[in-house]
Amino acid sequence: MAWHFAVMLDPAASDDPRTSFADTFTEVDPAAPALSVGELSTQRGDGIFESIGVVDGHAQEVEPHLERLAHSAAICDLPVPHLAQWREAIALAADRCGAGEAVIKLILSRGVEHGPAPTAWVTAAPAADNSRVRVDGVRVVTLDRGIDSAAAARAPWLLLGAKTLSYAVNMAAIREAKRRGADDAVFVSSDGMLFEAPTASVILRIGDLFVTPAPTGSILRGTTQMSAFAWLDAQGLVTEYRDVPASALPRADAAWLVSSVRLAAPVVSVDGAAIPVDADLTRRMNEYLLGPRD
Ligand code: PLP
Repeated sequence: MAWHFAVMLDPAASDDPRTSFADTFTEVDPAAPALSVGELSTQRGDGIFESIGVVDGHAQEVEPHLERLAHSAAICDLPVPHLAQWREAIALAADRCGAGEAVIKLILSRGVEHGPAPTAWVTAAPAADNSRVRVDGVRVVTLDRGIDSAAAARAPWLLLGAKTLSYAVNMAAIREAKRRGADDAVFVSSDGMLFEAPTASVILRIGDLFVTPAPTGSILRGTTQMSAFAWLDAQGLVTEYRDVPASALPRADAAWLVSSVRLAAPVVSVDGAAIPVDADLTRRMNEYLLGPRD
């Protein structure tokens, strides 16, 4: 990937009254080493991140991403992020993105072992070309997440509602999906409830109703899903957060995996069995998602 930009942040305390944080940013060569070997993000995946879609230099849904960053920080006992500082760094990165689609990543790590402070950085890079998958869709397999739907409340140290850097499990699930001849996975709980995909939220159409699993702490609150629901509502369609049994997915009238960079990928099959694709609605949804969204 041809990186455009990388900047290290000296994380400000959440009550820092400054109105400009320019002097807390150090732009670094995105191709050069920048982290200490003692970094706990690389040693333990002990940190959080956000991936923000950028279209023609416009960073999409910055506030929902910042809210989720703050939520993840709270779950992980990381210092409260100074949102104005992160907002300024995002604006700096977006300025470097130019035309086309790009991705800005925010990373907040526990820092260096025995070090005094967390480490934080922001990068920008061109996005992969997702134009085909938005039309051709994804074959998914359902994979047991190995926990029941009440695990998040019983074991908060699993950090299920946080977007942590520990994505090894998510990547393993995608590899397993590919071994099974599919493109992507959808996690289901051991008691048969639908969760989310390893890097996306799931939306189902059941008759005239659009549903997504309620973000009760077992899954991430998807910024793209929220945006898609706002658009569906504006079309006069009915959306709902609810507990969704896994058995609803293969029977859905349409389904999508939605995420910040790939946007809406229609699900074409579940565990090898085809499901209907609403090509027109998918095209319109992606058109909306590609427009400037605040
Ligand atoms: N769920 C998981 C586990 C994810 O990793 C992601 C995005 O990467 C999402 C859901 C979708 O979130 P968003 O729409 O904010 O990209």
